[in-house]
Parts: sequence; C-alpha cells; structure tokens
Amino acid sequence: MEQSKIWLSSPHMGGSERKFVNEAFEANWIAPLGPNVTGFELDIESYLSNSKNEETSIHVAALSSGTAALHLALILLGVKAGDEVLCQSMTFAASANPIMYLGATPVFVDSESDTLNLCPIQLEKAIEDRISKGKKPKAIIAVHLYGMPYKIDEVQQVADKFEIPIIEDSAEALGSSYKGRKCGTFGEIGILSFNGNKIITTSGGGALVAKSKAVKQKAIFLATQARDDAPHYQHTEIGYNYRLSNISAGIGRGQMEVLDAHVNLRREMNLFYRDIFLNIDGVTVFSEPNDDYFCNNWLTIISVDAKVTGKTREQLRLYMEGLNIECRPLWKPMHLQPVFKNMPFYGDGLAEELFESGLCLPSGSNLTDDDRERIGLGINEFFKA
Ligand SMILES: *Cc1c(COP(=O)(O)O)cnc(C)c1O
Repeated sequence: MEQSKIWLSSPHMGGSERKFVNEAFEANWIAPLGPNVTGFELDIESYLSNSKNEETSIHVAALSSGTAALHLALILLGVKAGDEVLCQSMTFAASANPIMYLGATPVFVDSESDTLNLCPIQLEKAIEDRISKGKKPKAIIAVHLYGMPYKIDEVQQVADKFEIPIIEDSAEALGSSYKGRKCGTFGEIGILSFNGNKIITTSGGGALVAKSKAVKQKAIFLATQARDDAPHYQHTEIGYNYRLSNISAGIGRGQMEVLDAHVNLRREMNLFYRDIFLNIDGVTVFSEPNDDYFCNNWLTIISVDAKVTGKTREQLRLYMEGLNIECRPLWKPMHLQPVFKNMPFYGDGLAEELFESGLCLPSGSNLTDDDRERIGLGINEFFKA
C-alpha cells in the first residue's frame, strides 16, 4: 500500500477559524467587507507593531491576494506604462507579474549567497546602468525568500542613495524579523500573502502594509472599484475588485492566534534537517547568517554539491517523490523564464547556481513524528546508496 503523501507545506488550521466563519454566517456578513476584515487587519497591525518599531506606524489593508497587493503597491508608488522596476530575479513569478500588468518593464537583479535575496552590489550596478541609459527605475521589489530577511540595511542604503522606494515582498516572511523588527514593515510599502501554502492561510488572500492611514485608505479605495463619494456610482479613477472577503478574513483571524506557534514548529523542522545533514558531506542547510536575522523557516532549503555527494538535487527530489514525499526545486529565476527572456538582468550567475543545486524540503507546521521518520529515513538511504 502506498503511504500517504507528505506535502511541502499544507494548510494547518488552529481551531477558532470556524468560530469566526460561523459568526460571519450568523450575521450574514457574506461580503468583501465586515467585522472579520476589520478584525483581521487589526490583528496583523498589532502583530507587526512590536516594541522595536515604535517610530513606524503600521496600517494594513486586507486584500484578495499577495499579487493584488503588489499590483496596488506599484500603482500607489506611481508606476506607469514605460517605467522600469527593479525586481529580485530569484523569486516566485507573482513578484514580477504585476510590473507587466502596468505595461512597465521589470529589470531583474541577482541574489547574494548569505540570504539568497537581492544582492545590494548588483542592485547598485543595475541602477547606475539604467540611469546611464536614460531611465531611473521607479521602484525596487525586494523579497524575503523562504522567510529569510534580505540584507535590509544594505539594500535600504542603496535605495536611499538613489531615492527609489522599496516594495517589500514579505509574502513568505510573516513572522520573520530583522534586528527585532518584523518583516513586512521595512519597505515604503510591504505585502503579505495568505495563500494555501503560506505560513498562515485564509484559503487565498493577501495584505498591503502601509506607513500611513492615507495610503491604506487609498489602497482600499482602489481595491473596491475606486468609487467616489457620491450617492450614485461615480468614478474618476480606474478601480479593482481586490478586497478580502469576510469569510476568508474569519479564517485569517483564527490563523493569527496560532501564527507564532506555527513559526516555532517550522523552525523545529529546520533544526530537524540541520541534524540530519550534519552527517552528510556536501549538503548545506540554509540558515540565518547571524543573530540579526530571525527566519520563520517557511520552507527549509538545502543545496546539494553534486561534486562532493556524487548525486544531484534532482535525483534526491525524484527519490523522495518515489516515497510520496514532496520536495521542490527553488524558484526558477525570472531572467531564465521564457516569458521574461527579453528583460534586462544584472548578475553573475548565483541565482542560476542556486536553482541548479537547491531543493525545498517538506516544512509544514503540521508534520508528525511519523512524517519526520519517513523523511529522515528517505534522505539517509538516498545518500548512503
Ligand atoms: C506567494 C507569493 C506571492 C503572491 O501571493 P498570492 O497571495 O499567492 O498572490 C508573491 N510573492 C512571493 C515571493 C510569494 O511567495
């Protein structure tokens, strides 16, 4: 008999999600507004506002997806057709697609090896070169991949030098922090995702994190069809239908209650893997470069040095697949994607190397001791053979 599937990252309910959803049914708030939407926003605002960032005020708009939040963030920063936007190449396509929605051009930038995120040196090179070619980029999209904060100080320094705002793609990093301050609060605008495989889920959803109430309200205005203040339907701007539903937000309120517990469980998964690979030469488990970084370990990532192990990450992936255990290559860099092949790229090959050697391992907060035993046995057998 085939054993049950072990997923990379699957939804993990805490318990009170149903209570909030039932409340929505009882009050007939089956709409993209209501008490759960407001409550969920407040929950996220207070979660992100820890003592270390009193100087920043945090205003959250709940939206239908992280992708919608990125789209609105670009609009709010004034990105228009023909503009250029810098974007980390090693990321999920959703980081870059909204640039294309606006008729703007993504300019992709390589990663550095400490956090696997936006390389500040390549970023500076890219900006200087774009300016010398006649166009100053309008925004920078920096991503905390797999929950690992990017080099926040260094990237911010480059952004400040050229006065280009950062959109902080924190879709994978809710619960991570840098120097004690929560990810999602660093960019001019931050975005979160609550898709099914993220650290918490609303079944589908996202949020925009703004530094002022005015920006939050503008985001909500655009997300609700840009209706002017009039008794009839009147519009002076193009709007979108991007608000989160009150049902989904109810799931989100329940999930916020267990977010920190789930972060701890994912961090334990990372320790579990570090332990396994301690005895396997040629495999690196990525972890925080130093104590400034706190990673939610949304997914644990390894890199397999085929020269040392005699085996590739793809062989490991297929072996685990045979055991009904899901593993996945890292995000294929955007500059290697057929759809973006004509877009500019600045880098020296690190993202490509990471894509060749890297693998994401099952990291869910709902994995059991039995699951861990199967995973551990599988990995050890593969590298022994
Ligand atoms: C998931 C994800 C998004 C998009 O979020 P959705 O809610 O799925 O639209 C954007 N960026 C990154 C890095 C992601 O992982």
